[in-house]
Amino acid sequence: MTILKCSATTCAYNEDMLCSRGEINVMGDSAKSSEETSCGSFREKSQGAMNSAKNSCGCETIQIDCKAHNCTYNENCKCTAAAIDVAGSGAKVCSETKCDTFECQC
Ligand code: SF4
Repeated sequence: MTILKCSATTCAYNEDMLCSRGEINVMGDSAKSSEETSCGSFREKSQGAMNSAKNSCGCETIQIDCKAHNCTYNENCKCTAAAIDVAGSGAKVCSETKCDTFECQC
């Protein structure tokens, strides 16, 4: 599985820059740059994402379903990168996050 570091500390699933969700969906169907990707699983803390939806830990590795087909690391909608960085400090909505590791094969 992929190692995930995430700077979207405003996300309900963020635990010390790790993601506690267990799996995430990365968006960016027609993305040609990392700016056009986003973490579709982002939930702002104040929106009160339910604790029961959380995995128990801030795990280092995570399952990633990714729609950014143009990325070098995308294989049948799965991320094959050894490690990725999701960026989004201060994010309030999904679109303010992005996969910084996106590399266009276009
Ligand atoms: S590195 Fe590429 S395939 Fe992996 S999550 Fe980011 S955009 Fe998707």
